[in-house]
Amino acid sequence: MNKEVLLEVDGLKQYFPIKGGIFGRTVNHVKAVDDISFTIKEGETVSIVGESGCGKSTTGRAILRLDNPYEGQVFFQGEDLLALSNTQMRKKRKDLQIIFQDPYASLNPRQTVSQILEESMQVQSVVPKKDRRNRVRELLETVGIGEHQLDRYPHEFSGGQRQRIGIARALSVNPKLIVCDEAVSALDVSIQAQVLNLLKELQRDYKLTYLFISHDLGVVRHISDRIIVMYLGKIVEVADKKSLFQNPKHPYTQALLSAIPSTNIEAKKERILLKGDVPSPIDPPKGCRFHTRCPYAFDKCKEVEPKLQPVKSGGQQEVACHLLDEEKSNAS
Ligand code: SF4
Repeated sequence: MNKEVLLEVDGLKQYFPIKGGIFGRTVNHVKAVDDISFTIKEGETVSIVGESGCGKSTTGRAILRLDNPYEGQVFFQGEDLLALSNTQMRKKRKDLQIIFQDPYASLNPRQTVSQILEESMQVQSVVPKKDRRNRVRELLETVGIGEHQLDRYPHEFSGGQRQRIGIARALSVNPKLIVCDEAVSALDVSIQAQVLNLLKELQRDYKLTYLFISHDLGVVRHISDRIIVMYLGKIVEVADKKSLFQNPKHPYTQALLSAIPSTNIEAKKERILLKGDVPSPIDPPKGCRFHTRCPYAFDKCKEVEPKLQPVKSGGQQEVACHLLDEEKSNAS
C-alpha cells in the first residue's frame, strides 16, 4: 500500500536579514536555506545531514515555524502551514513536535518532570486535568523513567534521562511528526544507541514520522529510511539509505561517508579530505556551491548551478552534480 505524503516542503527559503548603516536597513541576507523541496511519507524517517551551517536545523525550525520562513510552502497533511495564523499554528503544533539537542536547556529547571509533562498536555488540551498525572506515569514508563522519579527536577537526571524526558514531553500531545534536531548528538555513544532504539520502538508503537537532523552519518544510518544531504543551504543528494551508503553519487556525500570510522580493520577506507572551509552563506559561490572544495570541479561547475535530478530515470536517488550529466552522456 502506498503511504500518504505527510509533509511536503516546496521551494523553502530561509534568509536572515543583515542590518547595517545608520538607519539599520537590510543590507544583505544570510541565505541559510535556499530553495529546497522534499516530502516525507507517513511512518517514514527522513534524515537531513551535513556539516554545521548547512541549513539542516534551520530547515527543521522553519517547518515548525519556530522561525517563520522567508519564502516557500510547507504542507502538512495537505494544509499550508505558512498560511495559518499564529493561533492556528500554536494548535497545529500538537501534531508537529520537536526534540532538541540539549535537553537540559529545553526543560524548565524550576519544574518537576511531572509539571513539565502536565503543562505540555494542558497547553494543547489533550488530556483532562484529572487524568494528567496518570498519563505522566504512563509516558515516563514508556521512555524508561521510573514512577518514583516523577517529582524530581531536570538537574537530578543524567543527560540520557533528560533526553528521554524530552521525548516523553513530545509524545505527551500525541504528535504525528517529530523533528529530532541533533537529538542524540550530546549523548555518549552507548546512550545514543539506547535513545535511537527507543525512538524506533516509539515509531512502531505510536505510528510516528520523524525528520531526523544530524551532522553524524553514522547515527543517521541506524534510524533513516531516506537521507537528504545538504551543503550550504542546498540539497545536493537524496536517496534511500541503502543507495546512499552503497553508491553515494555526490562528491560531498562521498567525502562525508569517507569520514565515518570503520569497525572493520580489514576494510581499508580512504578518507577524502576536503580543502578549505565552507564558504559564507551571505555570499555563496556562483554555480555549484561545492565547487570551491570539490576535487572534481571543472569549468562548468563555476558558472552553472546543477539541478537535483534522478540518477536513473524513475529512481529514488537524486543528485545535484554536473558529473551525472557527463556519466549519462558517456553511457548513451
Ligand atoms: Fe563537484 Fe562540479 Fe559536481 Fe559540484 S557540480 S559537486 S563542483 S563536480
